[in-house]
This record gives sequence, C-alpha cells and structure tokens, in this order.
Amino acid sequence: MIVMKFGGTSVGSVERISNVARIISDYRQRGQEIVVVASAMAGVTSDVIRAARLAAQGDSARARQVVSSLRRQHCEVAAIVFGDGAERSDYEAYAEGRFQDLERYCQSYAVLGEITVRSLDQVVGVGESLSVRLLAGSLRQEGTSARAEDATDFVVTDDDFGSAKPLMPLTREKTRARLLPLIEEGVVPVVTGYIGATEDGVPTTLGRGGGDYSAAILGACLDAREVWIWTDVDGILTADPNIVPHARTLEALSYAEAAELAYFGADVLHPKTIRPVEECGIPLRIRNSFNPAHPGTLVADKPGMDRRTVPAIISTKGLCLIAVEGNGDTWTPQLAARALMRLAESGVAVLMFTQSFTERTLSLVVGQRDMESCLRTLKNEF
Ligand code: ADP
Ligand code: ASP
Ligand code: MG
Repeated sequence: MIVMKFGGTSVGSVERISNVARIISDYRQRGQEIVVVASAMAGVTSDVIRAARLAAQGDSARARQVVSSLRRQHCEVAAIVFGDGAERSDYEAYAEGRFQDLERYCQSYAVLGEITVRSLDQVVGVGESLSVRLLAGSLRQEGTSARAEDATDFVVTDDDFGSAKPLMPLTREKTRARLLPLIEEGVVPVVTGYIGATEDGVPTTLGRGGGDYSAAILGACLDAREVWIWTDVDGILTADPNIVPHARTLEALSYAEAAELAYFGADVLHPKTIRPVEECGIPLRIRNSFNPAHPGTLVADKPGMDRRTVPAIISTKGLCLIAVEGNGDTWTPQLAARALMRLAESGVAVLMFTQSFTERTLSLVVGQRDMESCLRTLKNEF
C-alpha cells in the first residue's frame, strides 16, 4: 500500500481536484492499494487564521467577510464536483455546520480580544475537513470507491496545541482498526492531513504545513510500502525555485539529508516528516501532481548516490545572532554548557553556536520568534 499526500496547491481548485482524482484512479486501476491524505485548498488555512485574528482585533465585519468568501468558494467547488443530488446537499449541510462553528469561535475571539492556540485548533482544520469530502466526491465521480475520513477519529496526539505530536501506539491501533477494513473492501480512504485529537477528543494540529507529517505518521502506522508527497514542483530541488529559478531536481537523498533541508527551510517538506518513515525504513517520494510523469525525488536510507558536493543550498530567513559577553570573567565551556542547557529547557532551538575565548563571547543563532525568550532565559540564568 502507498500513502499519497496531496498538498494545498494540488487540491487548490476544482480542476486540480479532478486532476488529483485522475492520478489516484489511474493507480487504483492498476491494482495499487492507496490511502490518500489531503491538505486544505491552497490559502484556506491562512484565511481561517486571518479571520480569527481580525475578530480578535475587533474587526468582526472583515472577519465575517473572510468566512463568507470561504463558504462561497467551497460551495462553488461542490456544485461542480457533486452536481445536483443528495451528495451535494449532505456536503452543503456539513460545510454550513463547520462555517457556523467558525463564526461562533470568531465571535468569542472578538469578545475576549485574543485567540488561544487551543481554541484556534478547534476550528483551523475546517479546510482539511472540507477538502477531503470534495476529493472523495471527485474520486467517486471517476468511478473510484472512496470515503472521506477525519483524522481526529484516529490520529491521537498529546495536548501541545498548534504543534501536537502523535501518541504512536494508540494512533497505530486506531488507524489500523479504522482504515484497514476499508482498504480490504477496495475503498480509498481520503484522510484529513494536519489535524488530530487528544485522547479526550479535543482537536489538535500538527503545525503549519503538517499534512506531510500526517502522511508519514499514517505510513508508519499502516506499514506502507512507500509514502508519496505530491506537490507543485518535480521533487526536492537544489535550491528554493522562488530564489533560484534554474534549480534542478534531486534524484535521491538520504533521510538525514532530507531532514536537514526540511529543518532549515525547504518548504517542500515539513521537518517532522522524516522521523516516522525513517524509523520504519519506508521510502519517501516527492512528486509533482502537475507533472505526474516525472519520477520525483526519492528519500531513503541509502538511496545509492555517490555524492562529492553538497546536494542543495537552503537559505533561512528570520534568524538573529545573539552575542553573550562574559562580565570580566572568562567565558568557559562550563558557562556555555549552562547557557545551552537552560535554553534547551525553555524550548529555544539554538541553530548554531560558536565560542571565542579571547573575546570572551558566546554567539548563538536562534529564530527571531525565539529571540525574546532566549534573552529572558539568559538574563535569568546569569
Ligand atoms: P504543498 O502545498 O504541496 O504542501 P508547499 O508550498 O508546502 O506545497 O511546498 C512546495 C513549495 O516549496 C514549492 O512550490 C517551492 O516553491 C517551495 N520550495 C522551497 N524550497 C524548495 C526546494 N529546495 N525544493 C523544492 N521546493 C522548494
Ligand atoms: N493546511 C495546513 C497549512 O496550510 C497544513 C498543510 O497544508 O500541510 O498549514
Ligand atoms: Mg506543504
């Protein structure tokens, strides 16, 4: 079985949803067992967050406009995917319920004047819940038996809202119980990426771009033969194509190389995707849903390359360099170790560090959003 994940741009319009349905149906007709993971239509998650922020800032009118336009967009796509009939009215009733929930949450953000991560996680997966229903509908139109599945029913996570991690033994048990009977009946499950729920059923999200991570989690739980991430480029490229237009597609990468590229900002892959597949030795492929004839990039244990140069160049924005100077004292390795230990305890990721004895400084590179907390931790410690 292959777990195939389709990102936001791959399901970003009715034409693209039909294109994806054709790709999946082609593989099904050749007898391939498939579990599909889908993201929200491109831009939808960001719009939901924008509506929530507008409401919290007191601009309820604009928040309502954003929600109305999302409602219109999804109804227009549904009209083409389902035509007229029971499936369309079921979908519309479901979508309306979800949009009313979103509006209620926006009203509460407006009253409180703030958004908590936990409350945002309750509604921010709405785009995935709708896109899987549209894609499953489109697959049925193609004659491929398919069913939309909400990962909140079987991807069990901790309660680190906004960046939740799966509880693997429980997720494995529930995922297998839910999806294997469907696959056996010849049905393609179309599962929401990005979202899960705690053991008590409270919705969580795996982090922005987390649909890739969902695919890797499901691949590991289902002992998939491979996990394929279908996106809008031919694979992992030698550089970000938005910065280097002539970047080339890499044929193969090791898990370690792909993890490093993803961690340092190659948007094409969520950084947490590698661990679950690497632990089970499942090969990962990055492929282009706009160019399905291209083989893409293979990420595997020893993908058989003999490389003499670095595979790719990644640029990372939003970093800052913090120089810590000893107050007349020598900046010893013990002090450096203490600083790094405290920063790790406060959840600050130090991406790079150098120590100079002569200048008595320790230089740290951290993400800009960690800067305040890094400075606070260092001031408290020293
Ligand atoms: P999806 O919607 O399929 O999840 P993303 O937008 O998350 O897609 O990731 C794909 C995008 O990542 C590409 O369109 C490309 O602009 C960007 N990208 C940045 N760095 C790289 C890289 N090294 N290789 C490939 N794509 C990259
Ligand atoms: N829809 C989510 C996001 O935009 C997750 C994903 O696309 O993978 O962040
Ligand atoms: Mg992505």
